[in-house]
Amino acid sequence: MVNPDLVKERQNSTLDVDKLNLFFGQNLLLSTERYKHILNLKKRLTNQIKSLYDENYENLERNDKYELVLRKSIELIEFGLENNIDNYLEYTYIIGEVMGTEKQIFGLHFTMFSISLDLWSTPEQKTHWANFMKQNGIFGTYIQTEIGHGTYLRGLETTATYDSQTQEFILDSPTLTSIKFWPGASGKTCNYAIVMAKLIIDNKEHGIHAFVVQLRSLENHRPVPGIELGDIGKKHAYEGIDNGFVKFNKVRIPRDNMLMRFAHVSPNGEFKRTGNEVVMYACMLIMRGILCMFASLLHSISTTIAIRYSCVRRQTADPSGIEPQIIEYQTQQYRLLPGLATSYTNFFATVNFRNILNEFKKSSENFLKIDSNEIAKLHAISSGLKAIVFEDCLKFAQLNRLCCGGHGYSASSGLQPVIQEADAGCTYEGDNTVLYLQTARYLLKSAQKGFSPHLLPQNFQETKDSKVFVRFEKYTSLFEKLFEAKLREVSERMFYLIEEKNMNQYDAWNNSSLLLVETARIYVSVFVIYTNLKSLNDHSKMECNQNQIVLEELFELYLLYGIVEKFSIHFLKLELIDGTRMTDLQTKFFELLKKVRVNALCLVDAFGWSDSNLASSLGVYDGNVYEKLFDYAKNSLFNKNDVHKVYDKLVKPYVETKAKL
Ligand SMILES: Cc1cc2nc3c(=O)[nH]c(=O)nc-3n(C[C@H](O)[C@H](O)[C@H](O)COP(=O)(O)OP(=O)(O)OC[C@H]3O[C@@H](n4cnc5c(N)ncnc54)[C@H](O)[C@@H]3O)c2cc1C
Repeated sequence: MVNPDLVKERQNSTLDVDKLNLFFGQNLLLSTERYKHILNLKKRLTNQIKSLYDENYENLERNDKYELVLRKSIELIEFGLENNIDNYLEYTYIIGEVMGTEKQIFGLHFTMFSISLDLWSTPEQKTHWANFMKQNGIFGTYIQTEIGHGTYLRGLETTATYDSQTQEFILDSPTLTSIKFWPGASGKTCNYAIVMAKLIIDNKEHGIHAFVVQLRSLENHRPVPGIELGDIGKKHAYEGIDNGFVKFNKVRIPRDNMLMRFAHVSPNGEFKRTGNEVVMYACMLIMRGILCMFASLLHSISTTIAIRYSCVRRQTADPSGIEPQIIEYQTQQYRLLPGLATSYTNFFATVNFRNILNEFKKSSENFLKIDSNEIAKLHAISSGLKAIVFEDCLKFAQLNRLCCGGHGYSASSGLQPVIQEADAGCTYEGDNTVLYLQTARYLLKSAQKGFSPHLLPQNFQETKDSKVFVRFEKYTSLFEKLFEAKLREVSERMFYLIEEKNMNQYDAWNNSSLLLVETARIYVSVFVIYTNLKSLNDHSKMECNQNQIVLEELFELYLLYGIVEKFSIHFLKLELIDGTRMTDLQTKFFELLKKVRVNALCLVDAFGWSDSNLASSLGVYDGNVYEKLFDYAKNSLFNKNDVHKVYDKLVKPYVETKAKL
């Protein structure tokens, strides 16, 4: 039986959940038909493979967790092959039924490893590695970070020295700090890797390049001679994944194992650049595009859990003696609903970014013929977008945890892996602060050279001519003005520090970096606004007015949250909004919270997450949260025996001693 509060919430909502879910799916997978097909596969998968949640994953020891994750990951690859799923996004979306929000082990194999091979290989190398992978059981990973350096790519110390006598590269980790550290699944699982190392020919350095390196024997899985590798130990999360360390001791690999699409080393050791090095960024762009979408989906998971639970949970009697649902409290709405709005806006921003990237990829022959200014702009947005979506995901996941009170702290709430994943996502694939600064560097250049840094979604003119655009223009222009003012402020500050204070560029940059980060954040927010206007306009063509109204309310909430909370200090300081207007907007924001609350449950239903995907006692669709919570407690391995085995060893002697006193 469905919890009566949830029944009532669903009855009172004005939203057509199925229609909105289809719009969501069509945006996610680019076709409604495809989305329906994938949903069917999800159902089939649920009947075929037991989920981690059902296997009591949370209660297992690390070795057992690793084994279970590995077993599931292999079964899932088989499932993907049987059902012809070769699109990583679709694959990841499907396997959530089994993995919940835990990572499967071959993530890097399907992303950085495969994408690097695809983009950085010459055509011959591409064919060679594709055949090789087909004929052998290759599990690949991507190895870049070292103990001493992650952010600073040029600081990497691993060397690949060319020996023209044997036509081989010699990979070496000359120092403690050069040991590779962190790569996913490199400790125990993967047998091949793309390794980033400094190329040296005849004592001359030629920058960082990618090399395909065998890590383990394909016969007995032992490390290849000269390679020392292992797991880096317990982390905050990802217990099922073996992030590893890898040390090279003069390991020889054939010349062909350097990926040579952009730089070539001839048999006699001649080095030649053969393409636009900037295109190397393209690999990161695709990876970031995918990552950004995952972050927005992850965000929607914690939102679903917290909103469902807040509709079920009742606490503290009101004057009439009735305990209200906790979602009725303004403080609860204030913490939950901007997160809901942001999970929608970030979703639409990230799918639009993916679409923009796809267009560029198609029109530029796999980025080969892309203009370097365009790549720079895409890179600036991708960096900032990755930072903002993970930042939001983490911030709201933590707030969602708090909104679930004590039960939110139980591992069964399913919130912990979301928080941990979002937390890690703020660091891996580029530390967020560093990424914002990269975006800011591009923005300063745009200010100096006088070009617009904005990236517009496809067919934006059509959006600009739409009713939706007109309706939100007053907000859009406020954010645009804020961005311009902020960019002016930081440019002037840099100029002042350099010209008036005689600082060098480096120090001026460092002394302005907080402003730079904030400017980048606002810049990305403008991109989020543009892309959401496009998506809202697309949605308006579906002729589902009731949903359009709700989505527009939600978007307005996002905008108002940005004005009265997130960026309020900047709007006030730069005198774009005065105190009176800010107060009015804040009142509007509070009013809007009440409106959005009416449809909150159905808005999270529309994400379409199944119970197995949420893997949460608090987020179940039928709202029977207390039953689930109690089942979870009873199934804890800690409760296997009524009297714990340490009783005889510790408790009994203590009790007996006390009894004698
Ligand atoms: C879960 C997880 C999985 C990972 N998987 C992989 C993997 O598969 N393969 C791989 O190669 N690596 C992997 N990594 C490593 C990851 O990519 C790096 O940790 C990340 O790029 C950050 O680099 P860092 O550790 O050197 O941080 P640091 O650069 O040392 O950052 C530390 C602090 O210094 C600040 N900082 C650094 N530089 C600057 C600057 N120029 N200006 C201002 N502030 C600065 C940062 O903001 C941060 O607060 C993984 C990491 C994690 C946590």
